[in-house]
Amino acid sequence: MATIFSKIAAGEIPCYKVAEDERYFAFLDINPMAKGHTLVIPKHEVNYMFDLDEEEYAGLWAFARKVAMALEQAVPCKRIGVAVLGMEVPHCHIHLVPLQTEKDMKFGNKVNVPAEEMQAIAEAIAAKM
Ligand code: 5GP
Repeated sequence: MATIFSKIAAGEIPCYKVAEDERYFAFLDINPMAKGHTLVIPKHEVNYMFDLDEEEYAGLWAFARKVAMALEQAVPCKRIGVAVLGMEVPHCHIHLVPLQTEKDMKFGNKVNVPAEEMQAIAEAIAAKM
C-alpha cells in the first residue's frame, strides 16, 4: 500500500507543496516545529534512507540542499537545521527546519501556523527555487 507521502507526491492528498522534480518532492510539515518546517522525500517509496542506492541517496541530499537554500531566503532564520528520523512515516524524508535557536529543533514542538500563512510560506520558498 502506498505511504501517505507517496499519496501526497502523487497529488492524491493535499499538501503545501514547495518544490518537485522528476524524482524528489518537498512540502511543508503539517505539524511544523518551526515556521517553514519542510520535508523532502524521494518519490520512489523507500522506508529507510540508508536503503536508497548511492545515486538516489546523493540526489535526495542535493535536492534537499536546493530547498534549504530557498528556505533560508524565504523564512528569516539563522540557519536550517536538518534531521532524519522516520519513526512515524515509513517513507524516508529529510526534515529542514529554520532555526533561530537550537530550541526550535525539538521534536514534539508544535507551532500553530494558520492555513493561509502555510500557503504563503510554501509559495515564498517555491519562488526562491
Ligand atoms: P518522522 O517519521 O520523521 O518521525 O516524522 C514524520 C513527520 O511527518 C512529522 O513531523 C509529521 O508532522 C509529518 N507528517 C505526518 N503526516 C503528514 C501529512 O499527512 N502531511 C504532512 N505535510 N506532514 C505529515
